[in-house]
Amino acid sequence: MAEHHADFIVLGAGPGGYACAFRAADLGRKVVLVDPRATLGGVCLNEGCIPSKALLHAAEIIREARHGGEWGISTGKISVDLDTLRARKDGIVAQLTGGLGALSKRRKVKTLRGAAKFIGPKTLEIDGEAWTFDQAVIAVGSSPVRLPGWPDDPRIWDSTDALALREIPKRLAIVGGGIIGLEMATVYAALGAQVTVIEFMDQIAPGADREAVAILRRAFEREGITIHTGTRVTAVNATKPALILDCSGGFTGEIKADAVIQAVGRRANGEAVNAPVAGVSVDERGIIAVNASCETEVKGIFAIGDVTGNPMLAHRATHQGHVAAEVASGHAAALDTDLIPSVAYTSPELAWAGLTQAQAKERSIPHKTASFPWAASGRNLSSGGGDGLTKLVYCPESHRILGATLIGRNAGELLAECVLAMEMGATLEDIALTVHAHPTLSETVAFAAERALGTLTDL
Ligand code: NAD
Repeated sequence: MAEHHADFIVLGAGPGGYACAFRAADLGRKVVLVDPRATLGGVCLNEGCIPSKALLHAAEIIREARHGGEWGISTGKISVDLDTLRARKDGIVAQLTGGLGALSKRRKVKTLRGAAKFIGPKTLEIDGEAWTFDQAVIAVGSSPVRLPGWPDDPRIWDSTDALALREIPKRLAIVGGGIIGLEMATVYAALGAQVTVIEFMDQIAPGADREAVAILRRAFEREGITIHTGTRVTAVNATKPALILDCSGGFTGEIKADAVIQAVGRRANGEAVNAPVAGVSVDERGIIAVNASCETEVKGIFAIGDVTGNPMLAHRATHQGHVAAEVASGHAAALDTDLIPSVAYTSPELAWAGLTQAQAKERSIPHKTASFPWAASGRNLSSGGGDGLTKLVYCPESHRILGATLIGRNAGELLAECVLAMEMGATLEDIALTVHAHPTLSETVAFAAERALGTLTDL
């Protein structure tokens, strides 16, 4: 077996892996970046965050066109050319992954195509060749969870199949009302499928603020999406005319579907690289444990991103990637926050960070809430937005912001102000006394803070 040596090797070129590789190169390291895909960017760029946002934008165009009549603007019958839409999505992905390729060349990062596996404490096998290394970073991500006992049928999709946009099924059932399930419901409902979401918890987007989720649920139902919460799929029958899902709980009965998306979470890929051979343990959930500096139990081996557990979000992986590159290169660094924002790019968008009201209550943390309804936002109404809410959870004594939830058009963009406020220990006064441009959606954050302080004049 041919032998090579790497100073710094990164396994996996997703948003964690490539960010880590590029940061290490910028710090003067000689970097090798390995991934089985032909392009950089991992799941996020190739078959996750980015293609889904392209399809969500298409869904938004369709909805805008459908509601145009309310503004006196009419279009003819809307038709969707799936080939053009797919090509547009794939073109965006190609542009971004191509850009990453150029960035890696500019940094002289050596990219290797292959699945890396540890074959010794300091040795990897990649595409039949041995690579010894000084330091390695495991950034191999996660894979969709498959429900056990389901038949093998091409009409049963995971998120990758759903984003491939092969067809628009007449009846689409989505099992799992988490972020993927809700985003795919948004896309396929706009494209004309009759969508049913089946979620076994008692609310969709479990973990998010109840009041905000109720707004989301109403908006979904207005778009014709059926939602069954507290419902379990007990059996699936693949018959020729349809997939038949037996359900029990909140909804008991049969659901017939032409396609089903399983969106019940992702599992860490810790088992994929033979980590135990290098002395790195992988737990029963496929997770590799790390400290705040992204160090595993083995000196010189780091892990970042989804493979290190929840929350499995690209922006957490990227930050961990920078930390791992810096620590490995002799700098002090840590991801010293658990403030990781979440955004569901649904219509309307749901965004949150920090504590929800329910979490503050559960943990007996002294708190109060203040909210501002978007029905009173000039910017929201004049740009065609529907129901929405900005809700702050704050400490009644210090007035510091403990959490924020926003639901409404572009809520995901607005969340950053709240996250920055929390990172900087900002108070209600800091937010309320900061002049927000009028009319903007960002005013809703200031208005919620003013409401808490009793200075609001917009309600
Ligand atoms: P998730 O954990 O967000 O949601 C899975 C949902 O499925 C949960 O609500 C869960 O209660 C439900 N569920 C589990 N088993 C079920 C069953 N047998 N029947 C019915 N419901 C069931 O997972 P996901 O939506 O698959 O997303 C996977 C990961 O990818 C998550 O970590 C998510 O945050 C991430 N992701 C993020 C974004 C984003 O940031 N916009 C987009 C897509 C995915």
